[in-house]
Amino acid sequence: MLGTDIDRTFPGMWPVPLRPLPDELLTSWLVRLARAHGLRLHTFCSLYWPRKQMWNRDLDRFADSDVIAVLAEHTGIPYSDAYDTMLRSWEHVIFEKCQTRTNSDWILPVGIYHRIRRRHGLQYCPECLGENGLPYFRKSWRLAFVTCCTKHRLRLSDSCPHCGKPVVFHRVNQHQSLAQCPFCDGYLTSRIAPTTCDELTLTWANCQQRVLESVLRIGYAEVDGEAVRTQDYFAGLGHLCRLLAHRDLRSQRLRLAISDECGLDLPAIPSREHRSLIRFEDLRCDNRAKILSLAGWLLSDFPRRLARLLEVSHCPDSYWLKHRDLSLPKWISTSVTEIRRR
Ligand SMILES: [Zn+2]
Ligand SMILES: [Zn+2]
Repeated sequence: MLGTDIDRTFPGMWPVPLRPLPDELLTSWLVRLARAHGLRLHTFCSLYWPRKQMWNRDLDRFADSDVIAVLAEHTGIPYSDAYDTMLRSWEHVIFEKCQTRTNSDWILPVGIYHRIRRRHGLQYCPECLGENGLPYFRKSWRLAFVTCCTKHRLRLSDSCPHCGKPVVFHRVNQHQSLAQCPFCDGYLTSRIAPTTCDELTLTWANCQQRVLESVLRIGYAEVDGEAVRTQDYFAGLGHLCRLLAHRDLRSQRLRLAISDECGLDLPAIPSREHRSLIRFEDLRCDNRAKILSLAGWLLSDFPRRLARLLEVSHCPDSYWLKHRDLSLPKWISTSVTEIRRR
């Protein structure tokens, strides 16, 4: 065991300079590094960042340049590769800015309370996690529009399949695997949590996710014969998902009209007493998969299908276009409104 042989004043590489694995989340990489050096996570972090509060905030969103620089220096990788493990690396790609004081669009909240995680904002694919005997957590599992693993055609899980608690891999001890639940010791890879989605919904959610992965890969989306840049596409899709997730009667009518026509599952939107649970990002994986499948069905013949269903469900433009203070990208606002005017 290397243990405290690591000297934090040592200027060179760490004895086991693990690099981040493909799509690895910053915290997953940090936990693997600490374990590789035979140190408890807290000890490892206090050696290198003695004055920083690391685990009582969402480090994957908020890690500062000092954390990233130390990791890059001691593992011998470029700063940009280390920075890529942060959720902030999607700024100007999926969203404008990764917010530090409020919730961020498309980022699942983990509900940090001291060192506890109260929300189900970290998902995983049991098959991916069990691959090659090297469990690690993917950055994309923190995204609200990611609800399936397209490689294994599985819906993602967002809790321990044995005790139902949120995934908190940074609290496992040295004798546990990263794929174990620190609360009940159960393996996240040994059982698939039951889903309330039917087969048709899962198929649509999986298709929709393939489309979104391809948009990210090629840098634009094709909508009704026009190219739309990635960030605008996600801004429009986010608007549509929030509209479909809303508790308002008009959104309820719209969801029902779509479901009646295509036979897809209806999401169970939390009731009024849960006032804080109104964002798409606050919903659990099954409900987000249902909303994304409805959105995917609408977008597969856009803008005609949406314009018609808005008519059927008596949603006026003033409701459909209402959206915080942000201006909507043209591809989603103008085309639907034009069809309705005609
Ligand atoms: Zn998988
Ligand atoms: Zn558990």
